[in-house]
Amino acid sequence: MIYNSPRGTSDYYGEDIKYIDFIIDTARNLFKIYNYLEIITPHFEHTEVFSRGIGENSDIVQKEMFTFSDKKGRSLTLRPEGTASVVRAVVERKLYVENLPLKLFYIGNMFRYERPQKGRMREFKQIGIEAIGCDNPAIDAEAIWLLNSLFKNLGFKNLVLYINSIGCSECRKDYIRLLEEFLKPYSKELCPGCVNRIGKNTLRVFDCKVETCRNILSGAPKISNYLCEKCSSHLKDVFDILNILDIQYVHNENLVRGFDYYTRTIFEIVSEDIDSAQNALGGGGRYDNLIEEFGGPKLSSTGFAIGLERTMLLMQDLSIKPVVIKDNMPSVYLINMSADFNGYLFGILKFLRQNKIICDSNFNIKNVGKEIKWAKSAGYSHIIIIGEDEVKNNTVTIKDLFNFSQSQLSWLNEKSRLINLLK
Ligand code: AMP
Repeated sequence: MIYNSPRGTSDYYGEDIKYIDFIIDTARNLFKIYNYLEIITPHFEHTEVFSRGIGENSDIVQKEMFTFSDKKGRSLTLRPEGTASVVRAVVERKLYVENLPLKLFYIGNMFRYERPQKGRMREFKQIGIEAIGCDNPAIDAEAIWLLNSLFKNLGFKNLVLYINSIGCSECRKDYIRLLEEFLKPYSKELCPGCVNRIGKNTLRVFDCKVETCRNILSGAPKISNYLCEKCSSHLKDVFDILNILDIQYVHNENLVRGFDYYTRTIFEIVSEDIDSAQNALGGGGRYDNLIEEFGGPKLSSTGFAIGLERTMLLMQDLSIKPVVIKDNMPSVYLINMSADFNGYLFGILKFLRQNKIICDSNFNIKNVGKEIKWAKSAGYSHIIIIGEDEVKNNTVTIKDLFNFSQSQLSWLNEKSRLINLLK
């Protein structure tokens, strides 16, 4: 019997791990530079954390959550996104008493019951940040700057940043009423999905990909014309700082996002190199009411999340290579000719590993020629062959696989030379 992985999940190994490590390392390094600290939250929460946080009428809560009852009948849900969990943790542990804004980042698996396709999975990884307790537009601009830098550092070129404001709870309310009035006469022409959204999750009609809906929406009132004074000057300030930072962006007046908690600035980063619905690599925005709704104080916040798999797939499609540490560091493959020499082999392995040199050996002893070929293809920079002569004479012969030079040293008296030869 051979089992398959569940639909919408994947196994990662080989080349994929190089990409995953590279993306995570690049993000971690950058987050440190921007003064963000890591937070780790559980993979599941009480269901209300998401149904209240993301919104009862959102697509995620309506259709995409992995919800189950535990043995005591409590409803739990595998997290579909990171923000609601982080906010729950911040409120529960009163992390907001620290110097604000509290800048946090997370890396972890998310779960959504979606129809799987390339770049859309049921289990996927997100890397995200949250800046909690700051209503200054500067923090929105800094988050967008960080998102943009992350993709630049990963090697992406043709990126577009879409930015919009969906107003505060006050001005948005008025705008949504207006939008609903505009849409009502079209209820026969709009797709059933959009008709269903009206009155529940009206703004999401802008996400619809159906041609007729898009044509109708091109004539819809734009939220930017209905923002209150405070919201529109907040957005202008975000743009001003991005201009100072020389960051290119597009004010996309049709941009909306799938969660109810967003207020004011929302943004998305998209790759122009790919023409697909899955070209959004990451996005986020401001959420000014969520912490209060979760029982905390009124703390304005902003954040974003990127999809790791989608980023990796796009890097692979665009032939953007990860910079792998092993490729730049010395690494030694020890080829042992016989199990009789294990004592000698382990002495050298131990010494190399204590000196933080990447090394391994052929524990299944095979033909030397094949082992050398394999070591080269696996990217090792050096090999050491352990045969009868080496053991008898207490020597180590090390070959450089790139320039084919070879050095021999005495294992008893010249150990440290081995490290020097590798550095
Ligand atoms: P969201 O949390 O929906 O704003 O998504 C943020 C990012 O997470 C997206 O831009 C994608 O890169 C990624 N993402 C969201 N949903 C999925 C999914 N089902 N499979 C893979 N990546 C996803």
